[in-house]
Amino acid sequence: MIEIPESTVISRQAETILIDKQIVDVVQASSPHRFTWYSGDPILYRNLLVGHRVEALAGHGSFIDILLDGNVRISISDGVNMKFYPAIEKYPVKHQLLILFEDKSFLAFTVSMYGAIYVYNGAIDNFYYQNSLQRLSPLDETFNKTYFEHIFTSVKKDMSIKALLATEQRIPGLGNGVLQDILFNAGIHPKRKISTISDLQKEDLFHSLKVTLRSMINNGGRNTEKDFYGNFGGYKCLLSRNTYKNPCPNCGGTIVKEAYLGGTIYYCRECQSEK
Ligand SMILES: [Zn+2]
Repeated sequence: MIEIPESTVISRQAETILIDKQIVDVVQASSPHRFTWYSGDPILYRNLLVGHRVEALAGHGSFIDILLDGNVRISISDGVNMKFYPAIEKYPVKHQLLILFEDKSFLAFTVSMYGAIYVYNGAIDNFYYQNSLQRLSPLDETFNKTYFEHIFTSVKKDMSIKALLATEQRIPGLGNGVLQDILFNAGIHPKRKISTISDLQKEDLFHSLKVTLRSMINNGGRNTEKDFYGNFGGYKCLLSRNTYKNPCPNCGGTIVKEAYLGGTIYYCRECQSEK
């Protein structure tokens, strides 16, 4: 899934490879997929893209943008896998869009569960996309303690910390995936009510948010997700589907796995206090 580390890492990797490449052909989805969302009719993507050259890549929230000349953009959301193939390789059997460059290298976009592949000229009117562009990212300097505090006071009812940080797109690209290690490093239980979190713990959480995301990016993304070349990232998630059967990396206790608010949470009862 694309969360903040992946949109940052993949866009950087992709930029070094794709910059200045010119699109010469577009191949429609080889296998229709019910939960792939396009902007308009994807049959028209060919007319929009052919002849255009890649100028830059940008990652934000859970989106990656390929910026082409003539103000044309390709934007992919969380759930879409974008993989680069050198000229010698064969097209993958299944894809939801394939873009061929003049040097015969190509990009294949695949969707496993759900995801959006938008191609458009100018801007796109989509809440999630615009929200992702407009809100501050925890990677920004301007996302400071005052702004973090503002997120806490922006909600009226007493909700859990997972609900606050990883739902409703208050922090675009902070999803259930990266949340697990952020909360573990801060010693906070995912179901902890925000009214019970002290100012000191909020400072720890703010610090953990910044440091954990930075570490994920510096290590090339999480080891549960694939990068632009199809390799897993180098950041070893402390709590994930790969590690929850191992003892807690801090106290050696048992890690609990639970479904909560539309995603699987992992936590240590000893190290992450719920009260
Ligand atoms: Zn523990």
